[in-house]
Amino acid sequence: MGETATAQGLAEQLVRSRALIPTGAQGVYGHGEDFSFAIEGLSRAINRLFGRQAERMRFPPVTPRADLERIGYFRNFPHLLGTVHCFCGDERTHRDLVKTHDAGGDWTGAQAASDLVLTPASCYPVYPAMAARGVVPEQGYTVQVQSHCFRREPSTDLARMQSFQMHEFVRIGSPEQAWAFREEWTERGRDFFAALRLSAELEAANDPFFGRAAGVMGQGQRQQQLKYELKVAINDAAATTACMSFNAHLDHFGKALELRTPDGEAAHTACVGFGLERIALALFRWHGVDPAAWPSDVFDLLDG
Ligand code: 5GP
Ligand code: ZN
Repeated sequence: MGETATAQGLAEQLVRSRALIPTGAQGVYGHGEDFSFAIEGLSRAINRLFGRQAERMRFPPVTPRADLERIGYFRNFPHLLGTVHCFCGDERTHRDLVKTHDAGGDWTGAQAASDLVLTPASCYPVYPAMAARGVVPEQGYTVQVQSHCFRREPSTDLARMQSFQMHEFVRIGSPEQAWAFREEWTERGRDFFAALRLSAELEAANDPFFGRAAGVMGQGQRQQQLKYELKVAINDAAATTACMSFNAHLDHFGKALELRTPDGEAAHTACVGFGLERIALALFRWHGVDPAAWPSDVFDLLDG
């Protein structure tokens, strides 16, 4: 396995080869031919290898705001949440808005929060959808879901995107079912990265909570071993980047959404997420900017 580019060099090469199409906004890229090959190939491979026993769901990249309010996302991650705002004024307000814009001012004052937010993780729409079905059956649910996700984190770091795609597997059921799922998946995740010929390290992690409570919340998550990440060197060998995460939520979603198991208890949930852009970046970083020159087994896995 040979390193092919430095972080800065990788960004430049991927733009030059038209794999990535810069939009002018930090962390927001279009995908050209080669990046699409990688992203779509990864999604297909994940589906082929692991999707058979999971119910497939696909949601658009927006979620009802009320659902994220019930789940409490805005309490823990207000800095990441993108809310959808829309114009809802009258013709006079519109005339003022155009006038303000034309005079070089800020025309967005008349925009008001709508009932939608941008989905921050692919699994969020799954829990309300399952709660709407009533009591969780004895065998629980296993779902696979993929969507565009948004997190408000503008950055010049190529691996820190504001808009990215996450393919997730989600388990809903008893505490034992949720834990067993998370355990099984850490092995599967390692095997998947080995098949991609990427060296990945499993590390305990925590979510990026907001504000003063962040330290305590993060520590609690680590103490209870609720989050692990598979990390790969994308930018530099010293600071690896999370390409996949393995999360136990205990009964957080079960309680918030009144999602119950047949014994009347709040359901436990777990999810594992593949960050498709980051895995693609790791492939370009370690195997070169031209997918046709990748190791043939890796190419075939994605081309299948
Ligand atoms: P988590 O929900 O654990 O924060 O994210 C799940 C996975 O999504 C991460 O392991 C990572 O691969 C991907 N991800 C999270 N944040 C970003 C980001 O800012 N940019 C990109 N490209 N992927 C991300
Ligand atoms: Zn998730």
